[in-house]
Amino acid sequence: MSEVLRTDSFFNESLVGLFGPAQIVKSHEASAGKSFLPRVHVVPYGTTEIPKKAPVIESNTADRYTAHGDILLLDGKGNGRVILSQTANSNTVLVTEQCDNLCKFCSQPPKTRDDSILFAFAAQALIAFNSQDFVGITGGEPLLNRALFLQFLDTLKRADCHTPLHLLTNGRAFHDLSFVKEFKDALHNRDLICGIPLYGTNSAIHDDLVGEPGAWSETIDGLINAGNHGLPIEIRVIPTKRNVEQLSSIVKLALESISSISSISIMNLEQEGWAKRHWDELYIPPYQYVKMLEQTLKLQHRYKIPIRLFNYPLCHLPQHLRQYACKSISDWKAIYEEECLSCSLKSDCGGFFVSQKHKWTNPTMRII
Ligand code: SF4
Repeated sequence: MSEVLRTDSFFNESLVGLFGPAQIVKSHEASAGKSFLPRVHVVPYGTTEIPKKAPVIESNTADRYTAHGDILLLDGKGNGRVILSQTANSNTVLVTEQCDNLCKFCSQPPKTRDDSILFAFAAQALIAFNSQDFVGITGGEPLLNRALFLQFLDTLKRADCHTPLHLLTNGRAFHDLSFVKEFKDALHNRDLICGIPLYGTNSAIHDDLVGEPGAWSETIDGLINAGNHGLPIEIRVIPTKRNVEQLSSIVKLALESISSISSISIMNLEQEGWAKRHWDELYIPPYQYVKMLEQTLKLQHRYKIPIRLFNYPLCHLPQHLRQYACKSISDWKAIYEEECLSCSLKSDCGGFFVSQKHKWTNPTMRII
């Protein structure tokens, strides 16, 4: 055990020199449909009828974890990563690595280089994949380059791609009312949910955690503006040592002052990226704030808005709170430890982040 649930990255010599999105073709289905993207054939090892036209990935692992029509992103050096998968538990595309926040627990620390081509890759990938299910749009900060994001939405519309989107944004761009209006117009009735993190009831804690003075104020304004324009909002809160005492107050503030909230997500910290560096300063084990979780989860009954727990192994929660936990860890970074094999809760449990493998802060706790 201790392997991710879905292997998503592959190397193959035949991919060297290919850059950007490509669509997977399974040999026996090669005649089915056409794609405007370059095609990559995936066949099991030892296949006798290997398509003559390269590129071909001959691999049992790649064959097992991919489906006809999945989208690979190629780096030109022979590496491919499946970014849109029909068998994944969720799909997300990265549109930029740039960000105007510098969160202490950022799992994917931002870069400053021009990466606007990622928007083009994301649009091509979404159009070719054409999912009817929600696909996540993530960064960096996807709304940092507002014009590019509007162009991205326009490209999808012109290609008749109606894929519903879950946009993970810090919400700061929405403090500009005129942008909110442009954004709303550019949606053209597309289903879109904004996942927006709020880490404090005031600027001191939030701004410290996101590493940017003034961020809280812009995020709050952005949340109010987005809500008032009817954009569905998922509020995200990560409990840390810095803000855990405010957890229920943050959720209450959001529920009482922001319109159009569709759900609240309480998210367990991931030990990845900059969070590793700040782990001791920030991480607090769930058993130390059970009372606060109880108090926060009770709010959903008063406000009739669902509050869910993300990224919590079920054995890290007391029994009465497990009903609120989601199997939320993406399958390409989710693992179960050896102890999970005999666990009676495994089928309902999302397991651990692979980055937390064997870490002393996250042992399994035996469930009978
Ligand atoms: S032992 Fe493993 S499967 Fe069971 S609750 Fe804990 S993490 Fe989940």
